[in-house]
Amino acid sequence: MKKAIFPGSFDPITLGHVDIINRGVTLFDEVIVAIGENSSKNYMFSLEERKRFIENTFKDNPKVSVVSYSGLTTDFCKEIGVEFILRGLRNPADFEFEKAIAQTNRHLSTLETVFLLTSAQTSFISSSIVREIIRFDGDYQKLVPNSVRVKNP
Ligand code: ADP
Repeated sequence: MKKAIFPGSFDPITLGHVDIINRGVTLFDEVIVAIGENSSKNYMFSLEERKRFIENTFKDNPKVSVVSYSGLTTDFCKEIGVEFILRGLRNPADFEFEKAIAQTNRHLSTLETVFLLTSAQTSFISSSIVREIIRFDGDYQKLVPNSVRVKNP
């Protein structure tokens, strides 16, 4: 059984992430969305909210599961017996960043990273832009799945 983890902050999940996950399940038997917890980061949404948004989005897809982790992604993959990391690429900046991480992970382990190129319709979307729109009370709903709703926008 081929399993991949899709690690990220998902603060919050966007239609760009949804696209990568939906395409990932056509390549893997299971895609485990892994929410990384970094104590030095200030998140807009709590871990519970970020997890709930993703779980609700994929509640009808048994091939998608959601977990959270802290520490090194390579250690977490070893712990849960996963051999592939799924990542999305939007632009050259993503490529440069992801290249260094993937090569480091290969250096530290036998993990293989599989990259999917963003779809044209979602390539401009990022969680940071969504957060900015939410902060200024803009229409963020077109950029995220229906499960992402802000309580008091
Ligand atoms: P991180 O903090 O690890 O960058 P993100 O939640 O921002 O976490 O992103 C997780 C993964 O999703 C990364 O591989 C990122 O490149 C990818 N991703 C984010 N937005 C998009 C998008 N619009 N299209 C394709 N991939 C995306």
